[in-house]
Amino acid sequence: MTAATATTTQTPAGSLYGPDHLQLQDALEKFINAEINPHVDEWEKAEIFPAHELFRKMGKLGFLGVNKPVANGGMGLDYSYSAAFAEALSHIRCGAIPMAIGVQTDMATPALAKHGSDEVKREFLEPSISGEYVACLGVSEVGAGSDVASIRTIARKDGDDYIIDGGKMWTTNGTQADWICLLANTSEGSHHRNKTLICVPMKSKGVEVARKLKKAGMNASDTAQLHFDGVRVPQRYRIGEEGMGFAYQMQQFQEERLWAGAGWQKSGFIIQETIDYLRERKAFGKPLLDNQYIYYKLAELQTEVEAVGALFHKAVGLYVAGNDVTQLASMVKLKGARVAREVADWCVQFWGGMGYIEETRVNRFWRDTRLGSIGGGADEVMMGIIAKTMGIMPRQG
Ligand SMILES: Cc1cc2nc3c(=O)[nH]c(=O)nc-3n(C[C@H](O)[C@H](O)[C@H](O)COP(=O)(O)OP(=O)(O)OC[C@H]3O[C@@H](n4cnc5c(N)ncnc54)[C@H](O)[C@@H]3O)c2cc1C
Repeated sequence: MTAATATTTQTPAGSLYGPDHLQLQDALEKFINAEINPHVDEWEKAEIFPAHELFRKMGKLGFLGVNKPVANGGMGLDYSYSAAFAEALSHIRCGAIPMAIGVQTDMATPALAKHGSDEVKREFLEPSISGEYVACLGVSEVGAGSDVASIRTIARKDGDDYIIDGGKMWTTNGTQADWICLLANTSEGSHHRNKTLICVPMKSKGVEVARKLKKAGMNASDTAQLHFDGVRVPQRYRIGEEGMGFAYQMQQFQEERLWAGAGWQKSGFIIQETIDYLRERKAFGKPLLDNQYIYYKLAELQTEVEAVGALFHKAVGLYVAGNDVTQLASMVKLKGARVAREVADWCVQFWGGMGYIEETRVNRFWRDTRLGSIGGGADEVMMGIIAKTMGIMPRQG
């Protein structure tokens, strides 16, 4: 599919998706069933997946550059196709691999695609779209997660280079990545104006994967703590303008948060698996599903999931039309994660003892979804953004 052949159809039902979106989703689902799902259990157990091998295969099919410029090897489609793509990732039988793919497509590369020079796009974006390179995003630090403005990693100028010192924490894809989209302080002064995004090759002298972090969920995805000790990179590896890193990262978060919502609004699949289980499982002489308390609760949860879907599609539609969707993307992230967690918790409850056993999908979903209200901006940070955009948050001192 190319930009020229693709069309965005607004159906009366309000769906943004036309036949081309469905074709993309269908192709991705087939790929997932052939190349990902057969390995998910093994990768979850190993607590890592072969990122280079998988991303090369995805890159060959164009999956890593859906809304990236054609000039850089992308499909050049609008964001509605990325949204459709992100939704279809929910066919993967875990949350970890969608997250790792999302880092590559929607978290580490949007700012580079929008603001990077031709040269830096050639060096870092093109191989990330083709799947030769694995990308990661370095924003959070040991002492600064929610409060991005207070990061301590510093990049000081030395001739034509930057010399980087500091560290990043919880870096998804961090043990396997070829480069990191790194947020660093490049000057003194206002915390919102002193930061720059820089592409740093992970094989640079002074970059150290200090440790691989063991997690409660999202197990197939590797998460690293990184140290940067006198890392020298050319200043031309900067993304866009110096001092604009915080602003670029805030824009980049919009796509990250919409991307997260794409997955959460597909939580209905676990409700369906729970329904199938409860129809078969009998207690007190009848299927568990026949208890009004249970089927009412499942009906209520399905309604919540549909509401998140409507919010997500509204936000995507406005984003595609060129609007700033900071508020809606934050609402999608907040509500989507909360609904997914609620769905997961109730479904574990209704699966009973089996819900608490690691091997069941519902248990994995429960462990994976817990991250939703923490990673990529905690719920409270989303509430802060929403309150601020509503004009009801007092000025911070
Ligand atoms: C598995 C995993 C993968 C990750 N991947 C990446 C990655 O690839 N790149 C990256 O840069 N980061 C990544 N992160 C980091 C993630 O984005 C941060 O953990 C998140 O932003 C929260 O930051 P924190 O952990 O420092 O929490 P803190 O800032 O210490 O906050 C702790 C808690 O306090 C509450 N809180 C925070 N601020 C407020 C407030 N203003 N008002 C009220 N309550 C508040 C929230 O409940 C929050 O959860 C990842 C994290 C995990 C666990």
